[in-house]
Amino acid sequence: MLEYREQGFAVQLMEHLVVPTFVLDASGHVTIWNRACERLTGVRAAEVIGTKLHWSGFYESARPCLADLVLNGEDDLVDKLYLANRSETYQHGALSAENWCVLPQCGARRYLAIDAGPIYSPSGSLIAVVETLRDITSQKEAQTALETLASQDGLTGVANRRMFDQRLAAEWQHPAHLSLLMIDIDHFKPYNDALGHQRGDECLRRIADLIVSETRQECDLVARYGGEEFAVILPHADMQIALAVARRILAALKRAAIEHPCPSCPPLVSLSIGAACRSDRSVTPDALIAAADASLYRAKQLGRDRIIIGETEIAA
Ligand code: GH3
Ligand code: MG
Ligand code: MG
Repeated sequence: MLEYREQGFAVQLMEHLVVPTFVLDASGHVTIWNRACERLTGVRAAEVIGTKLHWSGFYESARPCLADLVLNGEDDLVDKLYLANRSETYQHGALSAENWCVLPQCGARRYLAIDAGPIYSPSGSLIAVVETLRDITSQKEAQTALETLASQDGLTGVANRRMFDQRLAAEWQHPAHLSLLMIDIDHFKPYNDALGHQRGDECLRRIADLIVSETRQECDLVARYGGEEFAVILPHADMQIALAVARRILAALKRAAIEHPCPSCPPLVSLSIGAACRSDRSVTPDALIAAADASLYRAKQLGRDRIIIGETEIAA
């Protein structure tokens, strides 16, 4: 064991460490809550030392902190309680994780990188757990912004082609129903030619918003597939659901009543929709896209402003 004076020095050192740090004893009570931890959480050491209230620095209601999981050997709870688990298996007993923390005393939501490690006595019993925290909010925000940039279409804000491919591949792994809509704006070249590219862009954005508003935000994916073509992935949707979604999209566009400027085109902007449903596990994502594309092509051939599912035509 450290001599008393050495112990005092170690505690002082920890108090002044620039890294927010707190320590729990073997019974889970706070023994050290350093200055940097006070600054980060807005909670004074005097309020928490000797208590089990360390959670209150970070969360609004009682829950285990990473140090508690180390103390109780509950490694299996990290994935459930934290957004990212960075624990390395070779670091015996130590855990690393990341989480959005509310920091109720500061009124600020921060993204923290958290490490918690056990301290053992010479005889091998656990005597304390040290938890250190790093505020990595700005890195997390930059990372999120980059991820959004890499997956979004810049003009309309819906998913881009890259994201579409990724999601379709991911959804393909689930055995449930899966449908796909390919949506193309009718007579869009003359619309652009008559009103200019900026008005064309505006129309693309309106139609993208409208498609999004008629799909399920939590599970469907609306993507810009190409110039004036959109694709919608509908997980868990059979033909009936796909048809219902396609009909809602056409109905919403009718209500929006976007005028077409060309006298030689129908008076309102319309859409052609091709739909396909995965019925057989043996087909590939490319085959599903090709089937929806073929339906879309047929919708165009038959006069536009309509939905085609497989060989079935549904007039608008
Ligand atoms: P159809 O009814 O057969 O689909 O005819 P269409 O004129 O819509 O199809 P076409 O493929 O001939 O023309 C698509 C047009 O979409 C060409 C271009 O003017 C327009 N377009 C593609 N991407 C953009 C874009 O990002 N912004 C704008 N404003 N227009 C675009
Ligand atoms: Mg078109
Ligand atoms: Mg097109």
